[in-house]
Amino acid sequence: MQRERDSSGSHARKGNRPPGLRGKEIGLYYRNLSRQRKMGADPKEPEIRLGCKVSVPGGVLSRVKEFMVDYSRAPARENSDVDAQFQRQFRHLLSVNFEEFVAETKEKNEGVDFANPKLDEKLLQELENRQQGEKFRKRWAARQKLPTMKYAEEIVQAVRENQVILIVGSTGCGKTTQVPQILLDDAISRGCASSCRIVCTQPRRISAITIAEWVSYERCESLGNSVGYQIRLESRKARDRASITYCTTGVLLQQLQSDPLMHNLSVLILDEIHERSVETDLLMGLLKVILPHRPQLKVILMSATVREQDFCDYFENCPMFRIEGVMFPVQMLYLEDVLAKTNYQFQQSRDRRPKRDRPERRMMHEAMIGPYLRRIRHLYDSHVLEKLRLPESEGCEDIDFIADLVYYICENEPEGAILVFLPGYDKISQLYNLLERPKSPKGQRWQDQIAVFPLHSLMQSAEQQTVFRRPPAGKRKVIISTIIAETSVTIDDVVYVINSGRTKATNYDIETNIQTLEEVWVTKANTQQRKGRAGRVRPGVCYNLFTRAREDLMADIPTPEILRSKLESIILSLKLLHIDNPYRFLQTLINPPNPEAIKLGVDLLMRIEALDKSGILTPLGMHLAKLPIDPQMGKMILMSALFCCLDPITSAAAALSFKSPFYAPLGQESRVDEIKRRMARNMRSDHLLVHNTIIDYRESRYAHAERDFCYKNFLSSMTLQQLERMKNQFSELLYNYKFLTSSNCKDTASNMNSGKIPLLRAIIGAGLYPNMAHLRKSRQIKNRVRAIHTMATDDGRRVNFHPSSVNCGESGFDSDYFVYFQRQKSTDLYLLDSTMVFPMALIIFGDGVEAGVTQNTPYLCVAKTYYFKCNQETADVVLELRSNLEKLLLKKALYPAPIEENGYEKQLIKAIELLLSLDERLCEDISSDEIDDI
Ligand code: ADP
Ligand code: MG
Repeated sequence: MQRERDSSGSHARKGNRPPGLRGKEIGLYYRNLSRQRKMGADPKEPEIRLGCKVSVPGGVLSRVKEFMVDYSRAPARENSDVDAQFQRQFRHLLSVNFEEFVAETKEKNEGVDFANPKLDEKLLQELENRQQGEKFRKRWAARQKLPTMKYAEEIVQAVRENQVILIVGSTGCGKTTQVPQILLDDAISRGCASSCRIVCTQPRRISAITIAEWVSYERCESLGNSVGYQIRLESRKARDRASITYCTTGVLLQQLQSDPLMHNLSVLILDEIHERSVETDLLMGLLKVILPHRPQLKVILMSATVREQDFCDYFENCPMFRIEGVMFPVQMLYLEDVLAKTNYQFQQSRDRRPKRDRPERRMMHEAMIGPYLRRIRHLYDSHVLEKLRLPESEGCEDIDFIADLVYYICENEPEGAILVFLPGYDKISQLYNLLERPKSPKGQRWQDQIAVFPLHSLMQSAEQQTVFRRPPAGKRKVIISTIIAETSVTIDDVVYVINSGRTKATNYDIETNIQTLEEVWVTKANTQQRKGRAGRVRPGVCYNLFTRAREDLMADIPTPEILRSKLESIILSLKLLHIDNPYRFLQTLINPPNPEAIKLGVDLLMRIEALDKSGILTPLGMHLAKLPIDPQMGKMILMSALFCCLDPITSAAAALSFKSPFYAPLGQESRVDEIKRRMARNMRSDHLLVHNTIIDYRESRYAHAERDFCYKNFLSSMTLQQLERMKNQFSELLYNYKFLTSSNCKDTASNMNSGKIPLLRAIIGAGLYPNMAHLRKSRQIKNRVRAIHTMATDDGRRVNFHPSSVNCGESGFDSDYFVYFQRQKSTDLYLLDSTMVFPMALIIFGDGVEAGVTQNTPYLCVAKTYYFKCNQETADVVLELRSNLEKLLLKKALYPAPIEENGYEKQLIKAIELLLSLDERLCEDISSDEIDDI
């Protein structure tokens, strides 16, 4: 393959658009241009700018053709006729709409009767016997103290008389643990146990597990009898009838695929609906369709006191119960009060990237705090006022400050557990490490007198019951938690709450189509809930790490998650429920998302071929819908199974779904960058960097040197372990779906091609497509280490590599094309992660690939955006290869199976490998970038 560097790029491009456009205007110009093009309003086709040449040498082409001939020799039954037939069946499956789907299952369940008088009698007997027991009576007495139990009879009565009721109550009053038991015990004692099966949904895995464990303890049983839980990839099932199952909302949604009317349930309890997660909002919407078909099904909505009237209205004014809990008074302290008490000295702050945000942030902080400081200057010491001026004094930027506050409480306040609210995994593990392995003398003094528990769904300790128990004598319990301890789990002995005021939230900007997961300020409603956690056993204190001025700026309540999310995964999962028209269904939700956002989701799904041109689910789409990750990542791991490069690609997918294993302590960013670049081994890929890191980490473990390895390289071993767990989960799923012969991600057969870097790039590209960027120019300025890039994504927006990407400031790339997963908007638009890909990979795995001729030059184009010079013969072969690959993928989606090493299908894979491998050989003789003198 010959390749030419594209040097005229920026001039040609500028010639296309009117001069004088800046920043956002440029993006808008291209958007309008592409809209016009789509509508055919622009009679003058814009001039096509051709990129590098992708013609393949004749010898290689003949080899590729031979492979394809071998591939086409597959016996007929393995070939296209069969495909057509199966495709028809598949279409038929999908042609069933939701109403028909519901009618079908209704018919199937006609006459099914769970009643079983013998079982009823047995269970009644058993309950009566158990109630005699000493242990049971003691636990029963404790339960009686919960406010919810005082409403037991009323709840039973209301459920009997209504299909839907709403229970609102302060956290800890016993809703989640008692309501299901009240209903189950009522059914048993009325002698109709066998017709009772209760499911209670939980927003998170941890709460499903710990609550199920606690409830079976209250019932003096072990898990798996009348109580069980079910979360993704893990369950302890309760007995089939007369039982309570705590499951995550996602699991219930998935079960609707096979049982849309929930025929085997008698009671569905939707818990924590005030959190307004996507899943509970969807379920409420689905319930409105389901309920008329299932008059026997009872639904109980449960919520903390946040905008509960909205739910009541949504369900046609259903009856509402308010359960008042006992609450002791809680003293509210704000940052100014905390600083006055602890007298903490902040370290001189060091800059954090992106640097250009810095002055802006200081200005915004000053605008908030300045007027406030003038108002309170008579009330607080000047040293407190000075500290409040520092932006890093609020929130949880200075973890030492929080540790110091913990020690302050230990020293000055009477006994009682401390509950610290932090935004997420990173901050929790930072504080945990600081408290567990303190360096300061003060810390070392308290080290043995505290028992620290991180509470995060990905931390093992979270699933254990010890966090709920009283600490050993002489120790104070310190729980470091995300938002999960706000309402969904209750730890009784908390007296002190430290509220950093920060949380992680997704955000979605339709205009730029960017979704981010960012640390943001909580709302006033969150702070009220957090405050409440301190007043359960006696009067408590809530230390807010923000000022009253900050609180005034906070929103009242959180925005529903569905309004802050990209919708492609949701649309895809609705398709599995036979809900074909996402616009119509999503419009019925309690807060309908913007139709423009739905359109963007549908468009993406079409481009990655999860939906066909008319919006119908494809076989590939069906697999992607079933995988519990983002569809783009799902496609990436599916392809890695077919192309036998599982280990590296699952590493990339795991890190993209969770997080990078690197952390950058304040002021150490450039050292971390250096380490990353070294470990990236010049592969020009943040995604392959993750895999290199995992390989090195495994080696260090083998040598029992992992602690040292992680410490030296700024790696979090907790994150690395979690990534390994996720990789195994992915492999297990692919194995269950029959795409792999082994469930081990390190299996040899699944990794035959794991060493072929060009192939890995291509598979990463195949997954992240259509997120592409083109580097038009990179200038190496003399005396500067870093190159300056001129780059744009395919929507015409200018972007840069994020400073933390290994590609930032690099020069001498062998290809000008990149794929990425996330863009971030701060002062500039950044690609947070990127992998360099060769044009051939985009041509083979991209969409809208067409051949054509312009200015007497034949070309191949991808997505009508990137045009590559290409001779006719190459274009013909590549297009034929693409159509073969399309058929192969369809077949694999219909009959999932690994690609056999010596089979016909392997021939096609070999042809693709051969084409991709040309890029590698070519790398060596490409000249380095131009050098500009500026
Ligand atoms: P709500 O759902 O109304 O917020 P819960 O039913 O979750 O309240 O909790 C009621 C009480 O049950 C709590 O106050 C606490 O005492 C107890 N509890 C719940 N889960 C556990 C657990 N895993 N370990 C110990 N006690 C628990
Ligand atoms: Mg609860």
